[in-house]
Amino acid sequence: MAEPEQVDVVVVGLGVGGEEVAGRLAEAGLSVVGIERDLVGGECPYWGCIPSKMMIRAANALAEARRVDGLAGTAQVQPDWAPVAKRIREEATDTWDDRVAVERFTGRGGRFVRGSGRFEGPGRVRVGDQVFEARYGVVVGTGTRPAVPPIEGLADTPYWTNHQAIEVEELPDSLLVLGGGAIGLELSQVFARFGVRVTVLEALDRVLAVEEPEASEVAAAALRADGVEIHTGVRAERVDHDGRAFTVRAGGSEFTAERLLVVTGRRAHLDELGLDTVGVDASRRFLPVDDRMHVADDIWAVGDVTGEGAFTHIAMYQAAIVIADVLDRARHARAGADPSGTASVVGGAMGAASSLSASGTSGSAGTVPRADYRALPRVTFTDPEIGAVGLTEQQARDRGINVQVGFTKLGSSTRGWIHGVGDEGFIKLVADADQGVLIGATSAGPAGGEVLSGLVVAVHAAVPLSQLRHMIYAYPTFHRAIEDALRNLRSS
Ligand SMILES: Cc1cc2nc3c(=O)[nH]c(=O)nc-3n(C[C@H](O)[C@H](O)[C@H](O)COP(=O)(O)OP(=O)(O)OC[C@H]3O[C@@H](n4cnc5c(N)ncnc54)[C@H](O)[C@@H]3O)c2cc1C
Repeated sequence: MAEPEQVDVVVVGLGVGGEEVAGRLAEAGLSVVGIERDLVGGECPYWGCIPSKMMIRAANALAEARRVDGLAGTAQVQPDWAPVAKRIREEATDTWDDRVAVERFTGRGGRFVRGSGRFEGPGRVRVGDQVFEARYGVVVGTGTRPAVPPIEGLADTPYWTNHQAIEVEELPDSLLVLGGGAIGLELSQVFARFGVRVTVLEALDRVLAVEEPEASEVAAAALRADGVEIHTGVRAERVDHDGRAFTVRAGGSEFTAERLLVVTGRRAHLDELGLDTVGVDASRRFLPVDDRMHVADDIWAVGDVTGEGAFTHIAMYQAAIVIADVLDRARHARAGADPSGTASVVGGAMGAASSLSASGTSGSAGTVPRADYRALPRVTFTDPEIGAVGLTEQQARDRGINVQVGFTKLGSSTRGWIHGVGDEGFIKLVADADQGVLIGATSAGPAGGEVLSGLVVAVHAAVPLSQLRHMIYAYPTFHRAIEDALRNLRSS
């Protein structure tokens, strides 16, 4: 039996959130062990945000070139997937090799261990033959994996998840996509723009069901214009693969395609973590945390595993809170162990704690920031982009809020009209009439994700509607449509 090795902090899972926590704490002078069983950096750089946005960039270039006709002459477009695959392989992922990321972490002073981390009681984590005992605590950043639905026959087929879809070198002729959420829609539009015949099957009655119904309509219309077939309200009942093609039986119909992509949600990596040894229920879908990311007194969690939103920006936001909280704990432990303040147990961390304070990620006692998700931004990178923040109209009504809604189509703004082809989109505002502030907003359009930023500030800082109405909006920008939507705010 290996003797446990004492360290300050153990971080299990070095995705976006875990890598940030482990790297920053190591840089601050704590002894940090970072454990990763796959690739340091996690889903976002290798199979998520970055390569998918490279694909989208390429697909949007094709779409813009196709819009030349009627606007600026004629253009002939010949899609070729090879440069996209090459860019993902060579520029984004180093052919799915994390050497650079590992060196980045060890260069910051962290100790890297490749393998699967597992709790063996409070503060203790085993990885292979090694056992580490964490002085201040353990941070769980184990992320999620695709939640594959229990559809008859599916498990025995060579279906794709986002991994195979991102790694693809040669596109199939046809693709069935199970799931009409953000990832399903983004990838469907990309592949369709490269000439793949894409069919989306969504069990709910609309795609992008977590967002406003108007957003679902705009996204569905855009994908259909790209040739994507969309079926909503159909639940897949059976999947077969005959060696060449997939057949999915759903809602009394059969759908056939060369490939099948399953993007029906994500499930947290919890089951193999030994959470029972630390008194945490591992049967839940996610790991619940308080507003300082505590799962228990000496366990923190960051990122997708917390279920607070599967976004890189959430993982980074939570990581900043964990870093401040751990440094706060280290400061207290050091002060308790050595009231004279001369001990060097975590000397480097103290300097970092004060520099964190200076950079706004406070590490001083009582000032550790608390998580606040009221203004959580979400962007679906379809064309048009769908940006959203805060509550939808329905969510606000369900909470009994005295709601006002303001809506305007982008095409009726000056910039939308100038833009012409490709100007689909809208601004929708959800206000709390009693408080006189915005509590939610959606910005769909060619720059929907960018236009969102002003709306995020408005929701986050609870800027009074009277102030928003008396701001100056640059002419003729897309974001100027926000002023029209404000003018249209009314109760219904
Ligand atoms: C196709 C796609 C597109 C996306 N696009 C966007 C986007 O545009 N914008 C955005 O904000 N987000 C996007 N996301 C989501 C984003 O990728 C995630 O929110 C982000 O990666 C979460 O980071 P994380 O640190 O929580 O977990 P992950 O990135 O999932 O990393 C967790 C790590 O923990 C490791 N691990 C798990 N269990 C153990 C264990 N027991 N021991 C050791 N290691 C373990 C895993 O191997 C993994 O590397 C996208 C996701 C996908 C799939």
